[in-house]
Amino acid sequence: MRNCVICIILSTLIGAAVYATAAYAAGKTHEQRLDELQIHVDFFKKLMGVDEITTIIHFQRMPTVSNPAACILSHRVIIIDPLVWDHYDKYEQENIVLHELGHCELYYAHSGGIMYESVLPSHVYRRHRDQLLQMYKQGLPLIGGGL
Ligand SMILES: [Zn+2]
Repeated sequence: MRNCVICIILSTLIGAAVYATAAYAAGKTHEQRLDELQIHVDFFKKLMGVDEITTIIHFQRMPTVSNPAACILSHRVIIIDPLVWDHYDKYEQENIVLHELGHCELYYAHSGGIMYESVLPSHVYRRHRDQLLQMYKQGLPLIGGGL
């Protein structure tokens, strides 16, 4: 398989400085991942009532599978492992995008629900989705907020 490195600025698509980097081969196409990502970023904006986000989101292989995504708060950058992403259903994708944007856009610390340290099982997320989104929207403990 042939690896490729592409870097696309999606500011017109997502309305913010969102980059996507592909340095891997296999799974979904780069465009498929970006389309899926945009759905969840748009959902975040609608949920929180904001016009845009300032976080940069990369698809990039993570060193370990146990850490499928990360928010680098100091740089307002989110990295998502594309191979893990490809195996997520839409609920797990929503969970991980809201979780990382929770850190990078809202300064949420790890706590419960969407800000739990692990992606919730899809059936659990789906069953409690309304409540999880309500908790998320109302506000959760902040980074450095005494935790
Ligand atoms: Zn986290």
